[in-house]
Amino acid sequence: MSKIAEYMGQNWREFCLGVAGGSLVFLILRGYNVFPVVLIGALLAVVYWYSRLGGAGSKGLNLSSAPEGGGISFEDIGGQGRAIGELRESLELIIGDNKASELGIRPLRGLLLVGPPGTGKTMLARAAANHTGFSFMATSGSEFVEMYAGVGAKRVREIFSQARKKAKKEGVDAAMVFIDELEIVGGKRGRHSSHLEYDQTLNQLLVEMDGIDRDESPRVLIVGATNRKDLLDDALLRPGRFDRIVHVDIPDSEGRREILSLHMAQKPLAEDVDLDALSRETYGFSGAHLESLANEAAIMAFREKSAQVKQRHLFESVEKVLMGERIDRRPSKRQLERVAVHELGHALMGEIVMPGSVASINITPRGGSLGYVRKNMGEDKYLYTAEELIGEIGFVLGGCAAEQVVLGEGSTGVSGDFAQASSLARKLVFSGMSRAGIASEETMSDGNLGQLVGEILNGELSRVMSVMRSFSWIFDVAVPPLLERERLGGEEFRNLLSRESSEEIAG
Ligand code: ATP
Repeated sequence: MSKIAEYMGQNWREFCLGVAGGSLVFLILRGYNVFPVVLIGALLAVVYWYSRLGGAGSKGLNLSSAPEGGGISFEDIGGQGRAIGELRESLELIIGDNKASELGIRPLRGLLLVGPPGTGKTMLARAAANHTGFSFMATSGSEFVEMYAGVGAKRVREIFSQARKKAKKEGVDAAMVFIDELEIVGGKRGRHSSHLEYDQTLNQLLVEMDGIDRDESPRVLIVGATNRKDLLDDALLRPGRFDRIVHVDIPDSEGRREILSLHMAQKPLAEDVDLDALSRETYGFSGAHLESLANEAAIMAFREKSAQVKQRHLFESVEKVLMGERIDRRPSKRQLERVAVHELGHALMGEIVMPGSVASINITPRGGSLGYVRKNMGEDKYLYTAEELIGEIGFVLGGCAAEQVVLGEGSTGVSGDFAQASSLARKLVFSGMSRAGIASEETMSDGNLGQLVGEILNGELSRVMSVMRSFSWIFDVAVPPLLERERLGGEEFRNLLSRESSEEIAG
């Protein structure tokens, strides 16, 4: 009897179908019209299968899967040599699984890729799947988030079971599940208003990870990606879960050069293209920015009906990628003049603090700004001395000082600069480089900090204003061409500066 109950429990679908079929035959034999019953049954079956496909909630799991990680290999990823090395090393533990188990090494369950957006974390995960021959499945943390308790947890169970099924179907003995934006599903517990749902989802993820066993087949490896590791729940980071962390950083100048050449490889380049110069100009760009830069340059060449991508296309695309599309809003002539004076003020301070650093001055409205000065950092900068920070504050305040000296008063356009300058001044204070000596946010009151930052900024503003007074002639010569062409190259601006300076000295 218990065997029959057990059979019914495990094969309830077959059992129900058998009972339904038997009942239908019985009703037909007794002469009943079974058509309405069959119709309702068919409708219920359609609804059931539809809900199975769509998952439990209003939306199903958006799983993107591609055989062998979408054909991406480590060679397609530029500027991430260290991250690739670390990742390969971790993957060796899985590939050489027999040796690892002989040495008693516990199975690797989770790998975490940490880094800013667009640095290539998804590419790395896909390349890792390719390298190991695992089947690959990708989803994002936001796919698990639902208002209804239990839905996220169900989705977590689903993805693990689908990954195993997919691996079996592909005839491989392991599956890689990539979860982008892991902080959404794996954020610290108790932080959310609908925390029950979040907590249940995370708990389910932990349960599934703990269930991963070396001997199971197919095995699952979770690769998570986040740019906010600080938001992750500690339970996820504890040994035995995501205990291998690979940092994927913004590329340095050499890395940018590598990524640029990867993305320019399929494009016809003119003789004048200098990717080294371009990589120096693109400080702070991620791989995604550089890919977009290469693409925008090719689009620009296409619009101009040029058969090749020229250096000019690439440099103009830097501005577009950095600041966004041109916007239609056209300021009046008087406002444009103000923008030109403001940007020239920044550029003048840029050249005084670091000669040769101005790459271009622009007054084309793009994205959220009416104008901007692009600087060439020369080298990647990770540390600043007090002198360099003060110089940077001077550069930032240059726009405001120019408006006050040349036009007699400032405008609301300087508020963003003030915010930036005060953040630099705070950096100066908390690095112990102000007159307050060693200081930290914990030990300094808001009042004292405000006074110190105000002192630094006002002192700098009056110094920068006196520089503007001594160089007021540069506005007479540089504003007209800037208004006419909306852009001055760095070299052009330096020529104007040196020509006028030497004429002044000779005069
Ligand atoms: P996010 O955190 O926003 O999800 P991500 O770090 O996962 O971003 P990817 O999706 O891997 O970034 O990269 C986006 C695109 O940027 C890639 O398709 C590729 O074109 C380009 N890219 C990013 N990094 C690199 C790199 N290191 N080498 C070559 N191309 C790159």
